[in-house]
Amino acid sequence: MEFSSNIASLQPSATMAVSSLAKQLRAEGRDVIDLSAGEPDFPTPSWISDGAMDAVRAGRTRYTPAPGLPELRKAVADDLSRRSLAGWSCSPEAVVITAGAKQAMYNACFALFGPGDDVLVASPYWTSYPQMVGLSGARPVPVRGPEEMGFKLRPEDLEAAAGDSTRGLILCSPCNPTGSVYSLKELEAVAQWARERGIWLMSDEIYRRIVFTGSGGDAPSLSDIPQEKLGPHVLVDGASKCFAMTGWRIGYSVTDPEVARKLAAFQSHTTSNAATPSQWAALRALSDPVRAQDSIGNMVTAFLRRRNLMVEGFRRHLPDLTLVEPEGAFYLFFRVDGEYTDAVPDSQTWCSRVLETTGVALVPGAAFGDDRYVRLSYATSDDLLAEALRRLVEDRG
Ligand code: PMP
Ligand code: GLU
Repeated sequence: MEFSSNIASLQPSATMAVSSLAKQLRAEGRDVIDLSAGEPDFPTPSWISDGAMDAVRAGRTRYTPAPGLPELRKAVADDLSRRSLAGWSCSPEAVVITAGAKQAMYNACFALFGPGDDVLVASPYWTSYPQMVGLSGARPVPVRGPEEMGFKLRPEDLEAAAGDSTRGLILCSPCNPTGSVYSLKELEAVAQWARERGIWLMSDEIYRRIVFTGSGGDAPSLSDIPQEKLGPHVLVDGASKCFAMTGWRIGYSVTDPEVARKLAAFQSHTTSNAATPSQWAALRALSDPVRAQDSIGNMVTAFLRRRNLMVEGFRRHLPDLTLVEPEGAFYLFFRVDGEYTDAVPDSQTWCSRVLETTGVALVPGAAFGDDRYVRLSYATSDDLLAEALRRLVEDRG
């Protein structure tokens, strides 16, 4: 079949592909532990779901404006301003509500980049960024910081990778897949570099509230940097991870209002608004900061316990599989290339072999731009994690 050049080289999402395969094998009766897709295993807190139930019962089931319910745009703007350490005063006009953070990232890539542009992508990267940049017609350029610093970027790494065609940089902190978290100082250094270069800084902060370091607050955000110190930027966040709302499909972007209007115009021709009942649920979540913090705190406590279980388990029982110390999100990124052989030469075959022999589903690092590594999601029960660890150790023994 011939496809247009738009999608000729498009690959399906590797994270979603492994998780579909795991579901299929399970349906066929295989004993599979799925540690592939990054998705909280908790139900959406019922007080948040009630926001949608109430809306549906009240007949609020029609279109909203393309950029979202005015009440929700205001709630996002207020929430960001309230939590900003730099005194941001965010306008609702800057906010566009999208069908998941994925759509927010895609809208921004499509609106800001095009043929002839290079976009730096902090690597290892979430698997969808290079594809989204490619779909816009631009060229993704992976750039990485030192491995021993959890791959975090410094201005000198960026300077070495940038050229005359560089138009943007995509950053993710806390990072999927490494779990690395930029300190405010590190983030400021990157933001200053982007500003001096006059390029777009796209900051994916979907895991901002899932962080294990510091004093229990959020991970540093662009919104912790004074506006006047930032160049052109798009901040992306959403409800999927911190409120366990992956299936509701609510994300958002925050940027200059003029850009926000273009993003909304684009969305008005593609998907219109994010699902209306989902927007009402997200509004409920953002309208009660105390309850929200309580629900998030409970989930983060569980993620931290599971992170410690896995990190300690790997260090004690699988010391050859060296890992990036995760400080946020819910992923473990570990090196497996020491085990490569002629028959198992890369992360894809390593994961296939492990799935075959142990039933543990993992995502090959190649999907994130580093074929030496493999990613494990620990957003699942302690019991399943302990059993997965046991199987991985046994497989080696
Ligand atoms: N960014 C990152 C880094 C992610 O891991 C995900 C997970 N799917 C997304 C964006 C997309 O989130 P959503 O489900 O809200 O589209
Ligand atoms: N973000 C999650 C992951 O990386 C969910 C799947 C996806 O959207 O890629 O596994």
